[in-house]
Amino acid sequence: MLDALFFRSWLTATADAVDREAERLTELDSPIGDADHGSNLRRGFRAVAAVLEKETPDTPGAVLMLAGRQLISTVGGASGPLYGTLLRRTGKELGDATEVGPARFAAALRTGVDAVAALGGAAPGDKTMLDALVPGIDALDALDNSLDSFGAAREAALQGALATTPLQARKGRASYLGERSIGHQDPGATSSALLFEALAETADGVGGASREGSRG
Ligand code: ADP
Ligand code: MG
Repeated sequence: MLDALFFRSWLTATADAVDREAERLTELDSPIGDADHGSNLRRGFRAVAAVLEKETPDTPGAVLMLAGRQLISTVGGASGPLYGTLLRRTGKELGDATEVGPARFAAALRTGVDAVAALGGAAPGDKTMLDALVPGIDALDALDNSLDSFGAAREAALQGALATTPLQARKGRASYLGERSIGHQDPGATSSALLFEALAETADGVGGASREGSRG
């Protein structure tokens, strides 16, 4: 079961990953954007880590909703409201349960991803964050939703991000470039893969700890 601490750890791990990869995310946002994706997300997720440390909400839903609100209020670019919506909608779906199983989390995350698609009007193939989010959530669902599924979701999201390179952007700033957006990996899909990477890392920690425990 996944509790508030698991979700705080996930978002803290995401903040660390974004911090580590911020320069690269901004570099990806130079040829097909305005070179701010890394700095946008670094500011946002640092604020998320800080508010979660200060307020320590005690349910998964409250953790995600607080984090989502924080992203919306601190990230200037298009990605702020989109990631904020992802976390808020997912958190809302989890209600006030104190613990959730992986299957319930996956279903809630699917609702969050659908809300991102509704807000931004994008679909997979448009060269946006959805090109990593959708394969990631599909992999979580396709497997048995055990903690091991998180590793498969990480891989699927990463492959989805890599597969944005040959696509022409149909949404967001990159779409203004038309065909010239072809040949560049999408920054938002790349950061979405980091969210799944942090999720797998966090699940590994939990699985590893319980395997240690059962060994005695
Ligand atoms: P901005 O484009 O406002 O500078 P960012 O640079 O932070 O914002 O984020 C850019 C990323 O946001 C893109 O790489 C893309 O993945 C994502 N994005 C932009 N518009 C949309 C949209 N309508 N739907 C989904 N994702 C989008
Ligand atoms: Mg940008």
